[in-house]
Amino acid sequence: MAGWSVLEHDVLVIGAGGAGLRAAIEAAGQGVSVGLVCKSLLGKAHTVMAEGGVAAALANVDDRDNWQVHFADTMRGGQYLNNPFMAEHHAREAPDRVRELEAWGALFDRTADRRILQRNFGGHKYPRLAHVGDRTGLEMIRTLQDHGVHRGIDVHMECTVVTLLKDGERVVGAFGYGREQGRLLLFKAKAIVLATGGIGRAYKITSNSWEYTGDGHTLAYDAGAELMDMEFVQFHPTGMVWPPSVRGILVTEGVRGEGGVLKNAQGQRFMFADIPEAYVKQTADNEDEGWRYTQGDRDARRPPELLTRDHVARCIVREIREGRGSPHGGVFLDIAWIKTRLPHAAEHIQRKLPSMYHQFKELAGLDITQEPMEVGPTTHYVMGGVRVDAASQMSSVPCLFAAGECAAGLHGANRLGGNSLSDLLVFGCRAGGYAASFAKEHGAGTIDERQADAAARRCLAPLERGDGGGAGAGASGGAEVPYAIQHELQQLMQDKVGIVRTEAEMQQALAAIGRLRERAARLAVPGNRQYNPGWHTALDVHSLLTVSEAITRSALERKESRGAHFREDHPAKSAELGRLNHVISKGAGGEMTLRREPTVAMSAEHRRIVEEQG
Ligand SMILES: Cc1cc2nc3c(=O)[nH]c(=O)nc-3n(C[C@H](O)[C@H](O)[C@H](O)COP(=O)(O)OP(=O)(O)OC[C@H]3O[C@@H](n4cnc5c(N)ncnc54)[C@H](O)[C@@H]3O)c2cc1C
Repeated sequence: MAGWSVLEHDVLVIGAGGAGLRAAIEAAGQGVSVGLVCKSLLGKAHTVMAEGGVAAALANVDDRDNWQVHFADTMRGGQYLNNPFMAEHHAREAPDRVRELEAWGALFDRTADRRILQRNFGGHKYPRLAHVGDRTGLEMIRTLQDHGVHRGIDVHMECTVVTLLKDGERVVGAFGYGREQGRLLLFKAKAIVLATGGIGRAYKITSNSWEYTGDGHTLAYDAGAELMDMEFVQFHPTGMVWPPSVRGILVTEGVRGEGGVLKNAQGQRFMFADIPEAYVKQTADNEDEGWRYTQGDRDARRPPELLTRDHVARCIVREIREGRGSPHGGVFLDIAWIKTRLPHAAEHIQRKLPSMYHQFKELAGLDITQEPMEVGPTTHYVMGGVRVDAASQMSSVPCLFAAGECAAGLHGANRLGGNSLSDLLVFGCRAGGYAASFAKEHGAGTIDERQADAAARRCLAPLERGDGGGAGAGASGGAEVPYAIQHELQQLMQDKVGIVRTEAEMQQALAAIGRLRERAARLAVPGNRQYNPGWHTALDVHSLLTVSEAITRSALERKESRGAHFREDHPAKSAELGRLNHVISKGAGGEMTLRREPTVAMSAEHRRIVEEQG
């Protein structure tokens, strides 16, 4: 058996996106030693891709905004499956976390009186997203990274964690490998924060990059923690649809925030035809009012293009299914039309949406200042994740914390745009702080060498079977190729557990996931351990299968349509299910089990705020 290198920290943070970096900064600030592990290079996490902005009720652009309105917007957007205490912490603390980022050197776009500028976004009542053009994530990650490095955090880049190690009930370490040399690594830690981001790579069409294979969800689940709300996968309404090589790449909601409109092939602004009851009072009933809203008219209501993502995505799917789609299977998103309203519109678009301008110019040969884009839904975000305590972010496993996209609770059935970056800052900070306190109060546990040995064997098994690997071997019950399993799973989830779901298709998916799991036990990879992407993919497959099964089981159980989860066979909401979260955990025999839990009740103050905000 190959050996492993041992590394030791008081707090180990797995994931170096916004949540991981913010957690690491907070923990290091409390004087504990902190290790930060990431699959790719520091600074290349998902957070860097965030475009539209970070939601915080700073009230710089509209002084009617405050934490209560942000809280009510978040709860309404999540269709009241959110943990209200997380929603309260988030809405109250986000402004301070953004100002702190500014104090650490982040440069935001500015209002005329030099305060942080805020833009409109779907589901937010007032302009609330602090932003840097459409490159907000880049500025955020740059700032956090600089600040973190100066706090003395040890960064372990290009390392993937595959297993958590336990001493009795508590977590005491993590086992993984270095991607470059294939070295096996054992991290000892008194507390661990999971900040591994999302699951987008379980689907074929996604805005997510290769790293988002649901590892944190799976590490937690395998260690005995609970997952919650896994049926709620957000399909962002606007991804690129053409050319095929770039299908799924995100087109920021900022385009609609700046006045972009959605049209079908007949030139109709179809969003006006379908405004959900809960949003009628807040939504413009004519095009002129919608335009005025995007230009900052305080008396105007938002255009229907800025309704919540779940609803906009479903309206787009309906247009496409009913034959009113664009030539390449999407609908049209038009920002160029604003030239009929604004002088120097082309320069304005380029200044406000520089990345979108370049993205379409470079990848699709299209000038968005002159022509409409073709867009369609893309798998974007998972509301479900590790079930955590609202204040500390600790999971049900002692010592194990989770924050950011891999944690559940804040967003309920649907996340509002911009609420992820603020989530990372608020709950990254909380998780890091509580993890550091936990580490100070508890000594190091004991590492069980047998667990490490078993983890090492599991890691190396695909390579050891490698000689038998090769295309085509799978069908006969022989060795299996990791890319084949990955692609089949992505297609399966896309087709059968996607934006429109039915019992029959999801039952087929569940059975197929079981068959893929059996085949995954025979994964074989040729070559050696040095930078071997086939081997890395083989080790990702376990996570992809775990989160896919959790999504499918939860979606089967939710026999209603709510937020991002749409059942064609149960299109209405159920009052009973609207009071329940689905919790997934590992049964005694290793099987995945699901139970229903009542949602966390709102306090009297929460209820008053929600009623007041309509
Ligand atoms: C194109 C795009 C635009 C977006 N725009 C916005 C926006 O404008 N506003 C907004 O609020 N949200 C936006 N989002 C969503 C938001 O960016 C993400 O939800 C958020 O960045 C997730 O942050 P995180 O810290 O949880 O994880 P990430 O930033 O995803 O980082 C995860 C980290 O975990 C590491 N990791 C994963 N698995 C392992 C493992 N097994 N071992 C070690 N390390 C591991 C990764 O390498 C990475 O460092 C956008 C998302 C995309 C894709």
